[in-house]
Amino acid sequence: MNPTTISRRRFAQLLGAGAACAVARPTLALAKPPVVPPAISSLVRLSSNENPYGPSPKALKAITDAFDLACRYPDDHADLLIEKLAQTDGVNTDQILLGAGSGEILKICAMAFTGRTGTDQTRSGTLVVADPTFEAIAGHASRRGAEVVKIPLTSSFGHDLPKMAAAANNGLVYLCNPNNPTASITPKDEVRDFIAKAPREKMILVDEAYHHYVASAEYESVIPLIKDHPNLIVARTFSKIYGMAGMRCGYCVAQRETIEQLRPHQLSDSVSIAALVAGIASLADPDQLANGRRLNAETRAFVSRELETLGYKHVPAHGNFLMVDVKRPVMPLIQAMKQRNVQVGRLFPALPNHMRVTIGKKTEMQAFLSAFREVTV
Ligand code: PMP
Repeated sequence: MNPTTISRRRFAQLLGAGAACAVARPTLALAKPPVVPPAISSLVRLSSNENPYGPSPKALKAITDAFDLACRYPDDHADLLIEKLAQTDGVNTDQILLGAGSGEILKICAMAFTGRTGTDQTRSGTLVVADPTFEAIAGHASRRGAEVVKIPLTSSFGHDLPKMAAAANNGLVYLCNPNNPTASITPKDEVRDFIAKAPREKMILVDEAYHHYVASAEYESVIPLIKDHPNLIVARTFSKIYGMAGMRCGYCVAQRETIEQLRPHQLSDSVSIAALVAGIASLADPDQLANGRRLNAETRAFVSRELETLGYKHVPAHGNFLMVDVKRPVMPLIQAMKQRNVQVGRLFPALPNHMRVTIGKKTEMQAFLSAFREVTV
């Protein structure tokens, strides 16, 4: 162990609710929810599926309390977060790899399993993805020279798993559930069947970034399946319901041998101490999940009703965003909304008549709706 790292006991003391702070720091009023300032400009930012309510007050306090740890490398804190995640997800600590957001995890998976892979670099791993889906991993794979096969979503906006299974025998299949940008889910029976039948040589990455928002009985996390499937990796993030997008903290769960295949592709210590303590504190705050789910569901239902009244439907939604059928090319609408200070999601070429809008606070959604009414007349 690095002799300069702070002891775990000392760290636990710092995290403890009654920790005496040696240095005077800004006081956080924990009774009140955090006030989230607008991101840089006065734009209503509904473009990146961020959590408008911010991190847990406990996470904010942990970050503040950890200011004087900034001189330390984060290895002890990473171990502690991994312990907490292992307890939460019911796996062993050697089954977890942290990343600077799940974005880093996606990149590591592309590096390990797509393009030229293996010790001799002679195997060529294909990436199979849905269309549309979260595009980042396809970019990483193609930069590695991998073939990227895109399989359109089904008519109910699920992953077309039989076609994805037939598309390649090796490499990596990326399954985003719930899917970004459509907010749709792929039914649990289909996902289970797909994983059960996939050959061992084919790696499967299930991205559960929006897991905590789903209430449907048709959905389940596939983390419990990992024990039987060495080719299964599940990515999670603190950026969504935990409200920590700016802190950069995510992770994946897989069998130990699979984690060891991923680890060499990682930048060591890529998650900062501030992000780690915030993650640990967030996991100890059940209100963050309960409040996040409730507020998102209420506001999403409000926007959904208003859009319906205006004659617009959206894909059945299971995340903190809606994919709205705007019944015309969306690109001019995106620009017109921006002129009215409302930033919505980018164009997704496979669905050129759909607008992705993040569920912000009710006031932000009222601003969205009034701009939407203006630009769609
Ligand atoms: N996966 C999905 C499906 C996402 O939507 C996002 C971000 N919007 C990410 C991964 C990456 O998130 P982060 O790196 O912040 O964890």
